[in-house]
Amino acid sequence: LRTLAQVDPDIAQAIADETSRQNLGLELIASENFASVAVMAAAGSVMTNKYAEGYPGKRYYGGCEFVDVAESLAIQRALELFQAEHANVQPHSGAQANMAVMLSFLNPGDTILGMNLAHGGHLTHGHPLNFSGKLYKVVPYGVREDDERLDYDELERLAHEHKPKLIVVGASAYPRVIDFERIATVARSVGARLLTDMAHIAGLVAAGVHPSPVPHSDYVTTTTHKTLRGPRGGLILCRQAYAKEIDRAVFPGVQGGPLMHIIAAKAVCFREALELPFRAYQAQVASNARRLAQALRDEGFRLVSGGTDNHLMLVDVFSKGITGKQAEAALGRAAITVNKNAIPFDKNPPMVASGIRIGTPAVTTRGMGEAEMDRIADLISAALTEPENETALARIKGEVEDLCREFPLYPLPA
Ligand code: PLP
Repeated sequence: LRTLAQVDPDIAQAIADETSRQNLGLELIASENFASVAVMAAAGSVMTNKYAEGYPGKRYYGGCEFVDVAESLAIQRALELFQAEHANVQPHSGAQANMAVMLSFLNPGDTILGMNLAHGGHLTHGHPLNFSGKLYKVVPYGVREDDERLDYDELERLAHEHKPKLIVVGASAYPRVIDFERIATVARSVGARLLTDMAHIAGLVAAGVHPSPVPHSDYVTTTTHKTLRGPRGGLILCRQAYAKEIDRAVFPGVQGGPLMHIIAAKAVCFREALELPFRAYQAQVASNARRLAQALRDEGFRLVSGGTDNHLMLVDVFSKGITGKQAEAALGRAAITVNKNAIPFDKNPPMVASGIRIGTPAVTTRGMGEAEMDRIADLISAALTEPENETALARIKGEVEDLCREFPLYPLPA
């Protein structure tokens, strides 16, 4: 058997370079994290070779006895972790989890309520270029202009006016607690089902750091690779009454053979999330976010909604005269990775944007705490004060690398 470096030196080099980039840079993308070596071992295992269409005990292929063990454990652990009635661990991604839920009971032309992408929602919640926006009549709701928090009254008014079959709640860029109970009451009052997409906050929910949507929602979807810190993938939780409909919608509805290596890695992720240190980790993610938000405010930045309750914040860099696009590029040259992000009621177009989104899950995984958040705020502020000064950015990059060396991450591949 030949090693990766022997078979394909180009890809081996790209992986080595990516390992160094992750080791030596400040990863502040709110949707990213660093999976454990155990999760990656399962994801890189021989289970990638196995076809297993169907579900544990009911497969269309022979030889499924061991992948059945993996999938059954993943299901059992997901149910325990989130106290749910039914789990489908097969969705290849968060987008496919949402697709399966919608296709399981909606018909083309049905009305859905989803959070406006420009206010923090996700593409799969009804963007015109996404299947959700093409198949369904979408009524967007959003945040209030004055305090940039979810406008529950408007959501309720829109629900009564449009009588949607489905209300989708959940966001990619919303820094505040979401009141699932309140939205569930609205959904019930108009006869709509409620889908909560907790992709961003799933880890916080698992650890009790954010209220759980599970008791209030008909369906809960998530990715497994964000705060949850597992392999790249999706998960659907639902009430028992919808279990059959959901399983059929995933397979054969939108997918063929499940990715058994990824399902094994999801099982490892859920096991890690059930252990005590995971709670402390998620609590630290949230306190780090609060501290970083405070430190950035102290540096004079305006934060959307004034701060954060969860793992992320939206920084209005245009309040300091630079665009999100410029900020992302300048920080990138200093080895600080963030993404430009529209802020609610943004005056700049989406590809320019007035904000950047910053999250603490990845830096917290490598062991950074409040003291490091203050250092990170200093580094960000320094880079954004002179976004075109290459000498300054190179000096900041050196400081970033020094900071990262204090918190070692992955060994370089052999
Ligand atoms: N839902 C939300 C709220 C997200 O933020 C994302 C990804 O960013 C997704 C769904 C989609 O997940 P994936 O990229 O795995 O399709």
